[in-house]
Amino acid sequence: MNKERMLTGDRVTGKLHLGHYSGSLKNRVMLQDQYESFVFLADVQALTTHFERPDYIRRHISEITLDYLAAGIDPERTTLYIQSLIPEIAELTIFFSMFVTVNLLRHNPTVKAEAKSSHFDEMYYGFLGYPVSQAADITFCKATVIPVGEDQLPHLELTRKIVRRFNELYKPVFAEPQALLSETPRLIGTDGNAKMSKSLGNAITLDSSTEEVTRTIKRAVTDPARLRKNDPGHPEICPIYAYHQAFNPLESAEIQEACERGSIGCAACKERITASLEELFTPMRERRAYYAARPKLVDEILISGTQRTRAIASETMREVRDAMSLNYF
Ligand code: ATP
Ligand code: MG
Repeated sequence: MNKERMLTGDRVTGKLHLGHYSGSLKNRVMLQDQYESFVFLADVQALTTHFERPDYIRRHISEITLDYLAAGIDPERTTLYIQSLIPEIAELTIFFSMFVTVNLLRHNPTVKAEAKSSHFDEMYYGFLGYPVSQAADITFCKATVIPVGEDQLPHLELTRKIVRRFNELYKPVFAEPQALLSETPRLIGTDGNAKMSKSLGNAITLDSSTEEVTRTIKRAVTDPARLRKNDPGHPEICPIYAYHQAFNPLESAEIQEACERGSIGCAACKERITASLEELFTPMRERRAYYAARPKLVDEILISGTQRTRAIASETMREVRDAMSLNYF
């Protein structure tokens, strides 16, 4: 029996961070045997906010590819590709966009939140429509398992709507995908912001050196009400405690209790999370160094993954055109 397909991508807007790792990447690595796996570099989606700086996107392609390989994505088991090199996705986006209303997109809570925090005063057509393009990203390869963070749930809901509408308007070509949330569907930022994000400058990137991890954790906010070391803390609002839960789960219950009792100070608590992150990052650094020394190999991984993906995309578009009676000759 064919395996189900698992697929996700990341916007090429900067290095990947712990939020990506705990929200999605860890699951992708863990499940790459269970599913036929696809991971893509979302350069088109990056253009929705970075269309003035395509060179910036270009520069980050190999960085994110190294992040994937360092995190344990195995190119033998996962197909890696670049979104803009699969033109069928753009074609499918156009077909889908005919039956998605502007109102539905305007009310998408993630689009609204991102528009609010962006530096643009106006809403751009491509940005408003990116969830439609995301539906095409998922469906062109008929992926059904989508490991994502919580902010993606409205987009998955829209994809399911689009699939149902397409199947009912034309022919049943697509299956409905499901989001696969991790135990940390939204990792808090080092500044206490609800979401660690590339765009907000509150992230610990996966390529951080020991010094960078130590420094960023030292500077991270904690419970602001805790002025003295022995004051009882409120772990539920502290980013450091959230990191213990995500990256040091075996000790997190003890740390919670000690913080609430005031028997562990913030500095000691930070030292312990720094040690756990070092354990996570050490094997990643080794894999990164291996691939960073072999840029040709990294290019080949992307080229062969993109070729493989195009073959799948063109097969799906043949079915789509058949279903829509657009197969003229
Ligand atoms: P940007 O701010 O440029 O949109 P981002 O940090 O939100 O960048 P994306 O590329 O948009 O990253 O997201 C890629 C994937 O990582 C998505 O599935 C998203 O839900 C997940 N993700 C990103 N940040 C977090 C986080 N802080 N916690 C959990 N999951 C996250
Ligand atoms: Mg995002």
